[in-house]
Amino acid sequence: MTEELPGEVESGQIRELGEPESETHAAGFQGAGSVIRSMLASIGRGLKFAGSAVVDLCLPRSCASCKKIGTLPQKSWCGPCWEKMALVAPPLCPGCGRPFLDAQASPDHLCGDCIERNYRFDSARSAALHVSAVRTLVHQLKFGGQLKWTPCLVELLETAYAAWELRAPDLIIPVPLHPKRLSERGFNQAGVLARELGRKIGIPVSPDGLVRKNLTLPQTRLNREERLKNVKGAFEIFDDRKVRGRRILLIDDVFTTGTTLSECAKVLKKKGGALEVYALTVTRALPD
Ligand SMILES: [Zn+2]
Ligand SMILES: [Zn+2]
Repeated sequence: MTEELPGEVESGQIRELGEPESETHAAGFQGAGSVIRSMLASIGRGLKFAGSAVVDLCLPRSCASCKKIGTLPQKSWCGPCWEKMALVAPPLCPGCGRPFLDAQASPDHLCGDCIERNYRFDSARSAALHVSAVRTLVHQLKFGGQLKWTPCLVELLETAYAAWELRAPDLIIPVPLHPKRLSERGFNQAGVLARELGRKIGIPVSPDGLVRKNLTLPQTRLNREERLKNVKGAFEIFDDRKVRGRRILLIDDVFTTGTTLSECAKVLKKKGGALEVYALTVTRALPD
């Protein structure tokens, strides 16, 4: 069973449904009236969410990329868009899953980072290259709060997970956001993806298995050395009972240099006593 998600994801769903944020707490007073209002709002949100799930089941879905409505072999994507998708495919590095685009005929082989043992996770995979439509959807989910893209991105995660032939992990943990960034964004995109993936493949999810204690700089503007320094010591485990001796699957939206996932894996193993740590992302950004 998937464990309860913290309020972060709930608030993300609420925001997408267009529910204005309550100002009751900002006033610094919470009397009986405000408690009742808050309870009623909560019930209303539940009904709205249930309603949207029913609508989702009844209406035909359009392709996430070209918007065409019709028979969708991959559910969220039409056949031609799925065919055009830059899915990560062999030859790739069996360690970190990096694809070798310029060596189509060569067999799988370790990349330089894996030969130098730069990563602390046991292995990693990504579903698609961080380009074109998938990149746009990841950005819209992450920065635009477009949670409606979650199912189609999770379909990609499921495809990569199935091709990986990984022995089923015991627990899924998303790469966490710092509480300040979480309150700004309203949800953790990795948490949303992890929860939906866990539900679909039947593996428990621990949204707070890892916590981010340092407010790090956005990794996108940093080089590899700076990224390593930026995330060093950024993560913590408050309760190691869930991870000790377990096989953990980390989930994130994008694998860029792998430094964040590697630091998470290090903490899960060194401080949490995790047996093995794997990492799965929707996209893989390759260096220029
Ligand atoms: Zn399409
Ligand atoms: Zn590698």
